[in-house]
Amino acid sequence: MNEQDSQIMSGNDRSTRITADDTADMLMDFTDILFYNFRTHEAAQKAFERIADYLDIFRAAVCVSSGRNAGTLQTLYTTETAVDDTTRIEEKSLRSIDGTTYTYRIYRRGGAAPLDMMQRRAMEFIFKLLHTYLNRQSSLEMAQYAKEHDMLFGCLNSNGMSEKLAAYRRDGVDFSKYAVVFMNVCKFKAINARIGFENGNRVMQFIINSLRSLLTEQELFAHIGGDNFSMLIRQDGLEERLHSLNSLICDILHEGRNVPIEIAFRMGVYCIEAGQDEISEIMENANLACRLARQCGKQNILYYNDERRRQYEHTKMLEAALEPALHNGEFLIYFQPKVCLDDFRIIGAEALSRWMHEGRMMKPDSYITIFEQDGLITDIDFYVFEQVCKMLRVWMDAAIPVVPISVNFSKITLETAHFPEKLLKIAAQYQVPVEYLEIEFTETCCMEDEEKFNEILTDLKKAGFSASLDDFGKGYSSINMLRNMNFDVLKLDKSFHNEGGKDTEGAKIILRSIVGMAKDLGIQVISEGVETAEQVQFLRQLKCEKAQGYYFDKPLPADQFIERLHEGVYHRD
Ligand code: C2E
Ligand code: MG
Ligand code: MG
Repeated sequence: MNEQDSQIMSGNDRSTRITADDTADMLMDFTDILFYNFRTHEAAQKAFERIADYLDIFRAAVCVSSGRNAGTLQTLYTTETAVDDTTRIEEKSLRSIDGTTYTYRIYRRGGAAPLDMMQRRAMEFIFKLLHTYLNRQSSLEMAQYAKEHDMLFGCLNSNGMSEKLAAYRRDGVDFSKYAVVFMNVCKFKAINARIGFENGNRVMQFIINSLRSLLTEQELFAHIGGDNFSMLIRQDGLEERLHSLNSLICDILHEGRNVPIEIAFRMGVYCIEAGQDEISEIMENANLACRLARQCGKQNILYYNDERRRQYEHTKMLEAALEPALHNGEFLIYFQPKVCLDDFRIIGAEALSRWMHEGRMMKPDSYITIFEQDGLITDIDFYVFEQVCKMLRVWMDAAIPVVPISVNFSKITLETAHFPEKLLKIAAQYQVPVEYLEIEFTETCCMEDEEKFNEILTDLKKAGFSASLDDFGKGYSSINMLRNMNFDVLKLDKSFHNEGGKDTEGAKIILRSIVGMAKDLGIQVISEGVETAEQVQFLRQLKCEKAQGYYFDKPLPADQFIERLHEGVYHRD
């Protein structure tokens, strides 16, 4: 008998000669089974079956403990034999890289022969292999957990939510009873800025706890990243439950005092339609509704529907078309003359954009608000301004009797850094004297940050531009705006003239006092939307000096406008 061979008495009292090669084979099998099998219990059971007789083992287990946590015993291998007082236990503790301790226990029958040298070495090998295997398993589980969970807050992440929905679909859950809600925390950036990042995380945890307590079994929520969440929630009583989330207050201790943080969400809701089980579409529909809710800014809760998707796709299409359109000259500049009411001379004009897109002329109302939402309006505004400068240069060089041209600027464009300097630079590039350029702002420009707007206005005035307050009277115009800000021109909105072309008594009284007040403040007044001779007559009585409107001309393409410039005056009765 080879020195390394050993002899054991098996449980069946069967005497078998085991060679070193046999041992190596058994251990190889043990290794292979674990190596290729990722289901821990099944793998361990099978692997131990290969070496159980050799080592006279009837049970194996591991206890995983960390720190003061005593850990729980997990069975790795069982047979029908029960543990009793005579059972011999071989034990080995091994530490893992993350500090957890794995204590392996191998149970041998009371009457089993003591382990010889080779069996001991085999046992040592088995402990270490098991340890490597279980650590691989725990890393895989951790990776899987990380794939599906938010590691900071311990809730599902976007991927986890999709996986859970996929599992629900496999289990035949009736999705049409549920809605998916995408939620964005309103002004979370500002909350973070106010109470700091760590406290911001506390607010997040508070939100997560609130969602957890709102939802019942089978309902789900996930932290999608940043300040975004999603939920799978039953449609019954949905609205009420969603509203309850919009009145949360989280008390945070900040700089030694309690700061109550009010939490509100913008929510996009997709009530899952019967037959809809495409998870990516379900999520996308809710997401789209949430984006629309954030864009429109008015509604806290917005429901997905097909019309909203069409609108969204139209917006996306326009956004994608804008850059090439600007590049290919699809944006045209129309000019609407401004007229002196004393003698009907053309004393100026307003530049208005038109978009020739796919053979169709689009008016500003169909694209301005869309591009204001995504900020692209800035490109249009600067493009129009530059085109106006370019044309004025060409017209001046051609000795055409030019007049000052006003250009509209959105409040979004005002946020451009060094706005007045940029305008000056463009005017200088085309050598257009700034007296020929007027900047039109609507009242919304002045409302959000009055101080900042005043700075811009002052800089523009210093640079020599004129500035006008457009559409006065359309929204919530304030007389203070006129007094506090240094506008040169007040443009009365066309809504002051009623649609039939005749002014009501009330409108006349208001018009008269506004014109008087502006004049007293030294501001010129121009009335927009003038369509009838009666309106002209009345404006003259008020001593309103200028008008713009269909009575004289609609906005004109450049060539027709040049003709008007040559004529210089309107002949009206
Ligand atoms: P706005 O600046 O108040 O321009 C006057 C609008 O009233 C123009 O509409 C013009 O066609 C219309 N209008 C002029 N006279 C009359 C009239 O007698 N009766 C009626 N019913 N309407 C009249 P448009 O060209 O469709 O422009 C609409 C708005 O779009 C403009 O209002 C302006 O706020 C904005 N807009 C146009 N071009 C630009 C641009 O390049 N940039 C920015 N930010 N806004 C622009
Ligand atoms: Mg205007
Ligand atoms: Mg206007």
